[in-house]
Amino acid sequence: MVECTDATLNEKSGTMATMGKRSNTIKQRHRADAARVQKTNRAVKDAVLRGCLFCRRSDGGFDAPEHILPESMGNTEAILPNGVVCDRCNHGPLAVIDEALCEFLPVKLRRTLLGIPSKRGAYPQMKLFKGTLSFIPGKEGGEPTLFINENASKRPMTSHEMLPDGKVAFTLSMSGGKPLKPPYASQLSRALLKSAFEYAWLDHGEELLDSRFDHVRDAVLGVPRDGFFAAAKTTDSNHTGAVISYNFESLGNGETRIAAGLLYAGVALFTDSRLMAPLTTMDGFIEVFPFEASQLRKPRS
Ligand SMILES: [Zn+2]
Repeated sequence: MVECTDATLNEKSGTMATMGKRSNTIKQRHRADAARVQKTNRAVKDAVLRGCLFCRRSDGGFDAPEHILPESMGNTEAILPNGVVCDRCNHGPLAVIDEALCEFLPVKLRRTLLGIPSKRGAYPQMKLFKGTLSFIPGKEGGEPTLFINENASKRPMTSHEMLPDGKVAFTLSMSGGKPLKPPYASQLSRALLKSAFEYAWLDHGEELLDSRFDHVRDAVLGVPRDGFFAAAKTTDSNHTGAVISYNFESLGNGETRIAAGLLYAGVALFTDSRLMAPLTTMDGFIEVFPFEASQLRKPRS
């Protein structure tokens, strides 16, 4: 099992960020810009020869970097440079599954409670049963506020309690959230496979272009398959980082499968590129949402 924490993710994709900081003078900055352009041009040339990590085509454009986890989940560091994933995949099917993951209720709740803004800088808002929960950032370095708006006599906050350590425990009635039907479970599974496969690129690079991984590419791009998405029933509210994990296993018939996991702000999510159910549900600790190819629509080509 290969695991990475925030710290290692930051380290791996930190080169471009520090490049800017070091260039203090205009001259240095120009030199750094020229080097960056050269590096990007080279990466794009390589990409055109190699083809996109997912669609394997060379004609989708390679102008945008790809976020391994969506920016709206607070990820500004774990990024694949231009030249790995084409713009057509990045802005097309990958954007759709990133959005599905951001909007998955437990993920969205953690984004709201922790005040993680979207790509456009908007703070997420949760729909409650008769009300909303919003994160309001502190003004000029002040403390942020969690704001519960009750719009009816029926109260969304059913109880709250001040704990001795200064924390507040509260119970909210939620509404909304997309029902976790097979097509949605498949989208979430694809989002986890995408992040794990992209993270694996940082460790294994072009090895991932091998035909053993074609089924992962197909799955991420939405080719219907049988599979599952699983989520832990409880959230670790003390956890605030992101841990992506992946595990390659060679199956006897020459095939490989990838088990993919994401621990995001205490929300633990799992999937697999081949299995139709997890190897364990950890004594009922995780809930499993299966899907079948016949329940899914083919992607537009
Ligand atoms: Zn592509």
